[in-house]
Amino acid sequence: KRDKEKCDEECNLRVAVRIRPRNISELTIVGSEDIIRVKDKQIIVCLPKNNHQTVCVDHTFNYDYVFWSVDETNPFYSKQEDVFVTLGVPLLNSAFKGFNACLFAYGQTGSGKSYSMMGKNMCELNDIDSEDFSGIIPRFCRELFKRTSDLRKECTVSIEVSYFEIYNEKIHDLLASQTQTAPRIALKVREHPTLGPYIVDLTTHTVNSYNELRNFLIVGNKNRAVASTAMNEFSSRSHSIFTIEIGQSKTLNDTDNSKRSKVSLVDLAGSERLGSTNNKEDRMKQGVYINKSLLTLGKCISALAEQKKNNFIPYRESVLTWLLRESLGGNSLTSMLATISPSSTHLEETLSTLRYACQAR
Ligand code: ADP
Repeated sequence: KRDKEKCDEECNLRVAVRIRPRNISELTIVGSEDIIRVKDKQIIVCLPKNNHQTVCVDHTFNYDYVFWSVDETNPFYSKQEDVFVTLGVPLLNSAFKGFNACLFAYGQTGSGKSYSMMGKNMCELNDIDSEDFSGIIPRFCRELFKRTSDLRKECTVSIEVSYFEIYNEKIHDLLASQTQTAPRIALKVREHPTLGPYIVDLTTHTVNSYNELRNFLIVGNKNRAVASTAMNEFSSRSHSIFTIEIGQSKTLNDTDNSKRSKVSLVDLAGSERLGSTNNKEDRMKQGVYINKSLLTLGKCISALAEQKKNNFIPYRESVLTWLLRESLGGNSLTSMLATISPSSTHLEETLSTLRYACQAR
């Protein structure tokens, strides 16, 4: 459907899929087998027939990029750095041109969203800078400061970060100073007449170096971990949004050339709950709001992908999409990274993730 060669330069909506390696249980469960084949940016899901034979059926999906992490001899094998170069660098380029950008990681719990976005063990100073393990967010931030050091010679650059979570359509600041016993305060969204939607009382932090920024990342990651420990399943049900606002201003011949852009890097809630939202009883059990943001994001992205003029985009139907309105559509660069397991153990979830990601194309 799409000229893939041109995607790198022209598409404002990009979809990638990453297949994580098998974990111990997938390697040892009897009857668990690999069902994913990768061929030229195409993913083929093969239905398992028996332990010795795998029959390929017609489940073929096309994406802009496919990242394979199962065996290093596969031509699509990708390391953390490769994923960053393909998905993260274009966001940075877009932001420096003054456009907003966002990246979503979508997939079932345990499929590799946090690994891809943040990395492995991201509460620790040493791990966050690991060449092998750090994910898109720390790499993005390091590259951002590398580029701004050159840029600062010709203009004034300001960088501000914020980090929050959405759980049950309620917003919690991950960078607010709080004692561990203080109740987590839910923040409200308001609409500014010219600047658009914003979160009241969300803390934003000006950072002048990567080291300063890294400290905020670690604090926010630790706060996420505390919430997950305090409440079972919190991490699988919440969306975390790390936002970087970049301001550039330069006075040339008395004319003001300033640019402002916002990059939102989003680790979405586990997609496994989406499958049951058609079932009213399950919905009651899980709480109506759990998937409102995931569902609405899907609707917004597929409406944007249709590229019809005056197409209605239901931004206001969830907190996540309302807040990201200025970064979805228009000149903004939107990327989605769908993460899946290669194993037959997760066949249904994998198919549902692959279909969700297809809506965007
Ligand atoms: P999610 O955020 O989707 O719940 P995680 O990112 O926590 O999932 O990943 C689950 C486990 O799989 C973690 O132990 C993580 O280190 C590992 N993992 C995920 N993706 C990869 C990958 N591409 N390469 C190596 N290990 C991975």
